[in-house]
Amino acid sequence: MTDLYDRHRAVMPEWLNLYYQQPIELTHGEGRYVWGADGRKYLDFFGGILTTMTAHALPEVTKAVSEQAGRIIHSSTLYLNRPMVELAERVAALSGIPDARVFFTTSGTEANDAALLLATAHRRANQIVAMRNSYHGRSFTTVGITGNQSWSPTSLSPLQTLYVHGGVRNRGPYASLSDAEFTAACVADLRDMLGQARGEVAALIAEPIQGVGGFTSPPDGLYAAFREVLAEHGILWISDEVQTGWGRTGEHFWGWQAHARSGPPDMLTFAKGIGNGMSIGGVVARAEVMNSLDSRSISTFGGSPVTMAAGLANLTYLLEHDLQGNARRVGGLLIERLRAICAQLPGVREVRGRGLMIGIELVEPGTGEPDRRAVAAVLEAAREGGLLIGLGGAHSTSVLRLTPPLSLTVAEAEEGAAILEQALRSV
Ligand code: PMP
Repeated sequence: MTDLYDRHRAVMPEWLNLYYQQPIELTHGEGRYVWGADGRKYLDFFGGILTTMTAHALPEVTKAVSEQAGRIIHSSTLYLNRPMVELAERVAALSGIPDARVFFTTSGTEANDAALLLATAHRRANQIVAMRNSYHGRSFTTVGITGNQSWSPTSLSPLQTLYVHGGVRNRGPYASLSDAEFTAACVADLRDMLGQARGEVAALIAEPIQGVGGFTSPPDGLYAAFREVLAEHGILWISDEVQTGWGRTGEHFWGWQAHARSGPPDMLTFAKGIGNGMSIGGVVARAEVMNSLDSRSISTFGGSPVTMAAGLANLTYLLEHDLQGNARRVGGLLIERLRAICAQLPGVREVRGRGLMIGIELVEPGTGEPDRRAVAAVLEAAREGGLLIGLGGAHSTSVLRLTPPLSLTVAEAEEGAAILEQALRSV
């Protein structure tokens, strides 16, 4: 371990824990690989969802960033810049939302904050429906609506939040229900919650597949069924696509498209990998919703030229190389391979996911309870084998999360699966 570990509390409070007993200091990356300060090379099966949607050190993005940085770096809310307008036009067209407008932020938290601000202003109401086990960010408003209590570090919230079922279906009385029964039960829960609301509800916010919550997805169409109930009350639907956007799930460009029966959401939020490491977040909304604020609300860095240039180059690469198709093909093979490996392991409850968004839930074989010890041990063992993975789940530590960059090759998928097999068997 490098001297940085002794010094890291300068930037990190006690409530943040780094991954690994010997935390890794990353120095550089290329493609799907990253290197530590000790010279070790790792296959990166997690960075794809955090930052690096397409590939590490993608030359197209590096070039766009350095050229733009050499021209001008400035604020974007008072002056125009070309990459911002071009990226906004492309994102609006891709979003599926009619008459869409885009507002750029610098993170997913801020994107959701902006969406909540717009929804509450548009509806003149401060109640929000959120999903149990959800995660939406770390600001005061977004921790307040986050359903996953291990990521909601304060019980105070400026918004009234009603939590409904739907995000998690493999636990408790819901586990035995068919898709149709589960959907009906969740719709009944939503109706019940809305019946209990005091006054108007502004919006329902949901991740199509819960990310931090452990890659749990509801049956296709659940949010379409919710939408029909929401429409009766004029309540908006915000789809938090921070993890599910840009083709990661393979089958769809956005997660909401698995629930498209009743049309697109009123708003969607995005962030993380679209800038391939540069800080971009944003909200897309119908014009009438976007324009519902009473006065100005600006973001100095949201839409700044360098991040927008990165986003534009990254999005162009993603579309030109059909990385959504790659996620579907390579992700499909990887899920199959992992299912075959895990079928013989009693501690694995489920291998689930879509495209390159794959979760492996570990339980104690006797009790069926989340196996935090095993999850932590697999994380360490995989690292020893040269593979970086992520953690998640209702208890933060019950699910292994695999989210490589979307350009993952078949050979790399096999390499990662083999390392993971060893790690799982060693525990
Ligand atoms: N929404 C979802 C679904 C997320 O997964 C995250 C980040 N884990 C956020 C919002 C917050 O994004 P950020 O960390 O960029 O603020």
